[in-house]
Amino acid sequence: MVTTDWKSDLRQRGYRLTPQRQLVLEAVDTLEHATPDEILTEVRRTATGVNISTVYRTLELLEELGLVSHAHLGHGAPTYHLADRHHHMHLVCRDCGSVIEADVSVASALTDRLSASFGFETDMKHFAIFGRCADCSAKPATAKSSTTGP
Ligand SMILES: [Zn+2]
Ligand SMILES: [Zn+2]
Ligand SMILES: [Zn+2]
Repeated sequence: MVTTDWKSDLRQRGYRLTPQRQLVLEAVDTLEHATPDEILTEVRRTATGVNISTVYRTLELLEELGLVSHAHLGHGAPTYHLADRHHHMHLVCRDCGSVIEADVSVASALTDRLSASFGFETDMKHFAIFGRCADCSAKPATAKSSTTGP
């Protein structure tokens, strides 16, 4: 559900979203991890005149305004979230494609060390971490690890 927070926030900063841009923002809100194509499909349910380049330009603008942010969950197009809802890292299962959202704090041992050793501030949200989910790793393995089993 869209709250009015971002609307009043924008107005305070002197911005007004056009109806088209508002539709794009609402689509990002409704769909989780939505690609620009998926956002276009959602927006077109109400505004048939919108095309993909409008969606891309709007997403760019919304990202500049700090309203949405993107993450890469694979080789294809990035996916978009409302920025204030995007404080998790993405664990993507290579086998079934499911996406697990994990709080960034689970990686704090790594990010703390990178900060201490390199002065590097790590953004764990931008790219997904690939592996196999619990369900898929419980299934008989396709390669090696033949010694484990129930
Ligand atoms: Zn996410
Ligand atoms: Zn990116
Ligand atoms: Zn899986």
